Amino acid sequence: MPTTTPALSVPAAGKPFGAIELERRDLRDDDVRIDIKWAGICHSDIHTIREEWGLTPFPLTPGHEIAGIVTEVGPAVTRHKVGDRVGIGCMVDSCGECEQCKNGNEQYCEKGAVFTYASEGYDGELTQGGYAQAIVASERFVLSIPEGIELDEAAPLLCAGITTYAPLKRWGADKGAKVAVVGMGGLGHLGVKIAAAMGAEVTVLSRSTDKSADAKSYGAVDHLSTKDEKTFDKLAGTFDLILNTVSADLPMEDYLRLLKPFGAMVNVGLPTKPYSITPGSLVHGDKAIAGSLIGGIPATQEMLDFCAEHGIGATIERISADEVDDAYDKVVAGDVRYRYVIDTATIGK
Ligand SMILES: [Zn+2]
Ligand SMILES: [Zn+2]
Repeated sequence: MPTTTPALSVPAAGKPFGAIELERRDLRDDDVRIDIKWAGICHSDIHTIREEWGLTPFPLTPGHEIAGIVTEVGPAVTRHKVGDRVGIGCMVDSCGECEQCKNGNEQYCEKGAVFTYASEGYDGELTQGGYAQAIVASERFVLSIPEGIELDEAAPLLCAGITTYAPLKRWGADKGAKVAVVGMGGLGHLGVKIAAAMGAEVTVLSRSTDKSADAKSYGAVDHLSTKDEKTFDKLAGTFDLILNTVSADLPMEDYLRLLKPFGAMVNVGLPTKPYSITPGSLVHGDKAIAGSLIGGIPATQEMLDFCAEHGIGATIERISADEVDDAYDKVVAGDVRYRYVIDTATIGK
């Protein structure tokens, strides 16, 4: 018999969250059951619940920043045991056999990765996410959370952490590199912490500089306003890498001018309009524009280990289940420092 677990669910488009009993499947041989302690609120959850990315299958429990404790393992499980501190991020399954899966890039599985919520599993069932007290998933998609990161501060690393870590690593945010992080929100604040820990010299660029003190305490050397035209003159030709974490439509030409020759601007947000650039702004200086989507499972584990080693967790505000609707409005308004995490023990209370 499948078991049920208290969860937060939205019954239909435009409705608020309510507590339900959510069914979780019986343990398969390679499955792990997790007692979820904390679930982060990612902007993707909001886009999905508000149907800003197309139609959403309701009823839906979102959440892909999941941290908790293993309570049960299937007979074939080898990576985790009861009592382990673990997390689940954006994916819960992939084919495991294609080129991308074999290379640890499960997010690009040729059969199609199964995402943690609002995704059709290979069994045909709709996946339901982490705003719940328990989840069952294959051990291949369950990450170990090292001692040294609190579970609540670890939860947002499972999406926001890997989303920033993967492009910073790939595009060389290491010792001596000059890196700009655009945006100082849930993604940006982790981008600053991680890039600084990698040894880069980090500058934050955002419209407002009211989070400058935080940015500097996370390792940034400077924080400049993009509303000030002088910022773009002052920083022309400065950066090896620009990590753009905002989904606003930016004047890309202005940002490309901030790159050194061979520099790259990597985008993890999803602006709605096409970029307006002249090819010459890339040709003159061998510059690149790139994108990046979360990261594979091996990279996610590497990120968690890196964060533990460097004492990095997300900066969070803890909320109870009845505050989630309000928290969504605050995230959209930019009124959170820097990630809400839901205390799942409060669901249904
Ligand atoms: Zn996310
Ligand atoms: Zn695959």
